[in-house]
Amino acid sequence: MDLGLEGRVAFVMAGSDGIGLATAQRLHAEGARVAICARDPERLAAASATMPGSRAVRCDVTRASEIDDAVEQVVTAFGPIEMLINNAGGPKPGPIDSLSDADWQAAVDLTLMSAVRASRAVLPAMRAARWGRIVTISSYGVKQPVPGLSLSNSIRMAVLGWAKTLAEQVAPDNVLVNTVCPGWTRTARVDQLVASRAKAEGRSGEAVSKAIADTIPLGRLGEVEEIANVVAFLASDAATYLTGTAIQVDGGLVRGYA
Ligand code: NAD
Repeated sequence: MDLGLEGRVAFVMAGSDGIGLATAQRLHAEGARVAICARDPERLAAASATMPGSRAVRCDVTRASEIDDAVEQVVTAFGPIEMLINNAGGPKPGPIDSLSDADWQAAVDLTLMSAVRASRAVLPAMRAARWGRIVTISSYGVKQPVPGLSLSNSIRMAVLGWAKTLAEQVAPDNVLVNTVCPGWTRTARVDQLVASRAKAEGRSGEAVSKAIADTIPLGRLGEVEEIANVVAFLASDAATYLTGTAIQVDGGLVRGYA
């Protein structure tokens, strides 16, 4: 299938690792002009080096002014952003009674406001061009709460409400807004999480991984490329009649219907 991405401008937030990097690489492989942002210049440079011609912009996505600066730098380098991938690290885990006001505020900035602010910065050009794609990386936790992830489960629902509302408002301008909800996906961070859970429970990492995999109908964790394929499709010219959706890519983990 031709995704029609040749020459299109994509900005992938938090694109130096994990799902963000895999998405940037997939869009780049399809011929898009790709820019990524993250906080660590070394990680950014290493990630950008895997995508010749790409741009890397340092940006902490929790900071409004840094997002505006990053968008401006991408537009100066490549022209108006046509595809925005909203992504960030996950918010702090923990039960609700362990979280302070500062924890909640930090998670709102990281997970909700990063998407709100970046989208606000790119939308005028998308609407004027009457072509745009905004894809937000969320979590299967918006379909079925993940035990212990109080901030993620709560604030991602706000992001979902925002995305659904925005989808309707910008549809007349042919800007399509969708959400991708990964299940357990193998990244360095998930490997660390498995290792620390194994240590805490006195089990091997393999045993912990197998226990997770046993809850998933496809019987394994996902790979970042499997998420990136769906994001790239949603960001492309092949997806012209899809907006306001939240699609889980989770190996069948969520047992609900929608
Ligand atoms: P990751 O930790 O592998 O990568 C996160 C990226 O975000 C890195 O590039 C990091 O540098 C960047 N980042 C973090 N905070 C940032 C900030 N303040 N400013 C700029 N960049 C920042 O994570 P991942 O596994 O690829 O997950 C991506 C998103 O998907 C997260 O929101 C995560 O919670 C969610 N998710 C992941 C899984 C999974 O199993 N991997 C499952 C469900 C949801």
